[in-house]
Amino acid sequence: MSVTHSSQCEICGRGPRVSNQISHAHNVSKRRQQINISRHHVVVNGARRFIALCTRCLRSGRVQKAG
Ligand SMILES: [Zn+2]
Repeated sequence: MSVTHSSQCEICGRGPRVSNQISHAHNVSKRRQQINISRHHVVVNGARRFIALCTRCLRSGRVQKAG
């Protein structure tokens, strides 16, 4: 696995993205869009690990949960 970042999914590798913040007056500025990350005990390659993964990976059944 790659280097652990708190705001990066360790399954699909998705992290924060840059998007536009648009005000009511339609002033456009860059904002950091975080992804929905939570830490869970999962089984990875037969080993029980505590990793950060996005809720999309969690809900799509890409990991096997362990306790
Ligand atoms: Zn993910």
